[in-house]
Amino acid sequence: MLECLDQEIDCIYSDIGCEIKVKRKEVSLHETRNQPIHTRMIYNNFKTQISQSNEKSSTEILILKQENAELKNKIRELEIQSNTFNKIIEKKSQEILFLKNEVEKTNIVMNQKHIKIILHA
Ligand SMILES: [Zn+2]
Repeated sequence: MLECLDQEIDCIYSDIGCEIKVKRKEVSLHETRNQPIHTRMIYNNFKTQISQSNEKSSTEILILKQENAELKNKIRELEIQSNTFNKIIEKKSQEILFLKNEVEKTNIVMNQKHIKIILHA
């Protein structure tokens, strides 16, 4: 494909700030002459990107810290609930044990009375 060498085109650094339009045949010359300016543009662009990236990371860290704090609170609540349930279960277990003993005592007394009735019959 033939390209017109006199056609004005954007500098290859146009997307990072070089607004110069150059003839196709002078691109190389423009790049050589403006190397320090282009380097400065590349550096500034890099700096901006790093800064934006850091800002984004800071925001993400803040959100994650908040989520972490919420999760820690939930775990604490669940631990408290779990302890309460364990205490209730322990208390109910003791009540069941007590009632089993009572039933056993009653059975013994009933058996003794039964024996007495038989002996007196
Ligand atoms: Zn340029």
